[in-house]
Amino acid sequence: MEVKVGPATLELVEGDITRQDTDAIVNAANQYLRPGGGVDGAIHRAGGPAIEAECRQLGGCPTGEARITTGGNLKARYVIHTVGPIYRDGFHREAELLASCYRESLKLAAAKGLKSVAFPSIATGVYGYPMADAAQIALTTILDYLAQNPEIKLVRLVLFGRLAFEVYEQTLTELSHRR
Ligand code: ADP
Repeated sequence: MEVKVGPATLELVEGDITRQDTDAIVNAANQYLRPGGGVDGAIHRAGGPAIEAECRQLGGCPTGEARITTGGNLKARYVIHTVGPIYRDGFHREAELLASCYRESLKLAAAKGLKSVAFPSIATGVYGYPMADAAQIALTTILDYLAQNPEIKLVRLVLFGRLAFEVYEQTLTELSHRR
């Protein structure tokens, strides 16, 4: 599924983020920027040790912020590492921090002159963010960003598994009808 936002495209696909050919892929990292499980482990395995070596130099990353490294052996030239909130009950700034992850990652990509970025569904694995709520935040934040900033031409959300894809598709369909 895809929608146009001015000159930009927002695309939803089911797949594996490590295989994307966008200028950058985004990693759902931890605050220490140390290789972990889930999508983070998959990116470090596929990208090789150059990514971890650069991460070590960065000295961590606070929740809601983003950092950039090389893409190592990946097709993508860069990896943008962002740290999602650990979901507790929805009353600990989780929504604000999750929105910030998408916005800060896009800002960093634009500052580097990148034109295409692929995201996984941040915080919806080990960090426990409910998928439907996370989809709403991810999609509205990306749509708002693209509507206000013309630099990035393609944002692709790469959903892992049919269920995640369907939740995002349903949410984007509802949002498109409202716009
Ligand atoms: P977090 O700690 O931010 O929750 P996880 O890596 O545990 O990060 O999960 C984030 C999301 O990434 C989950 O929805 C998970 O299903 C998904 N995911 C896991 N592996 C991949 C992959 N290779 N490509 C895309 N998404 C993935």
